[in-house]
Amino acid sequence: MIPSILPTYNRAPMNFVKGAGTWLETDDGRRFLDLGAGIAVNVLGHAHPALVSALTDQAQAVWHTSNLYGIPRQQELADKLVDATFADTVFFCNSGTEACELAVKMARKYFYDNGQTDRVDILAIEGSFHGRSSAGIAAAGGEKLTKGFGPLLPGFTHLPFGDHDALTAAITDTTAAIIIEPIQGEGGIRPVPDQCLKGLRDLCDEHGILLILDEVQCGVGRTGKLFAHEWAGIEPDIMMVAKGIGGGFPLGAVLATEDAASGMVAGTHGSTYGGNPLACAVGSAVMEIVADAEFLADVSRRAGAFRQGLEGLVAAHPDVFEGVTGSGLMLGLKCKAPNGDVVSAGYDSAVLTVPAADNVVRILPPLNIKDDEISQALDRLDQAATAVSKGLAS
Ligand SMILES: *Cc1c(COP(=O)(O)O)cnc(C)c1O
Repeated sequence: MIPSILPTYNRAPMNFVKGAGTWLETDDGRRFLDLGAGIAVNVLGHAHPALVSALTDQAQAVWHTSNLYGIPRQQELADKLVDATFADTVFFCNSGTEACELAVKMARKYFYDNGQTDRVDILAIEGSFHGRSSAGIAAAGGEKLTKGFGPLLPGFTHLPFGDHDALTAAITDTTAAIIIEPIQGEGGIRPVPDQCLKGLRDLCDEHGILLILDEVQCGVGRTGKLFAHEWAGIEPDIMMVAKGIGGGFPLGAVLATEDAASGMVAGTHGSTYGGNPLACAVGSAVMEIVADAEFLADVSRRAGAFRQGLEGLVAAHPDVFEGVTGSGLMLGLKCKAPNGDVVSAGYDSAVLTVPAADNVVRILPPLNIKDDEISQALDRLDQAATAVSKGLAS
């Protein structure tokens, strides 16, 4: 009999009912150190007082009005994002995949309105992830996401990760945009080198192509900059944001330059919930804390300590691990043992991590993880690795 919850997930046997900071507690009283943060979502940990009060204060005022009317909280958050980034304008949605839908629509509409109606094609990267909607799976490609769901949204070409020449060769006069994650998340914490992002920006400028960055996972302070592309000193035309921006409340956004967004006039796009007062009140509170130079410097400092510890872990367990990847607090343990075994052994040691493709275990802790929690995390991961190692030997 089919479960009452559609069984699209293999769930681990823990039911979390309470959280505080980097800790989660199950319904049977077990406490876990959370290095997954709801897949890079809870950037300020669980039940952060500023977010709790932003949400509860807004809940006392007004929950929802729709975008038929002005939403002061939405205006506030849009202004914060525009102030802090390359963007001139923001559209709010509720998830990363919805951000992908608009990013694709926006790019196509841009060329349509400029009289280049054939320019509809989008170049994308193999191993990427852009969400589970029709545009999201078509953009990411790959059998795992798309098999059985055809016909797929047309107009996407997929190029190998890190192959600048192949990407350059794929550009034609129907190319509208390149969509890329500065650091592939689901794909196994694979960073695009800064030089390559610069090269991509140049390539786009040279051919009049729009650069769409998917910062759904790597954005919102995760790498120690507010957005990961800042490390490369480039700016996109369009950027997808979600996950961390709501700190645990569903919120997504598309940020864009005035030029790239020029086709998106009244009536061209919408969302009933998008930019809802509750979501934007929380998003504003997140930005208030994360978009701060001192906070971001702290992320980099913590990330340095964590990474150093992980390098030690890899050195101590050469049978289990191969190396450390990533940037800031978006870290990956490339495994030799099956990554699922490492994640499971982590459960036994009361530490949560997240598997990714490429046999990687993702470490995506709250950005405000404490120094002693990093030490505890490393101890628990060491315990887990020891258990996996014993399993390999037996
Ligand atoms: C998670 C993710 C998405 C999809 O976000 P949802 O909120 O699950 O729709 C898109 N792109 C990237 C890079 C992601 O990590």
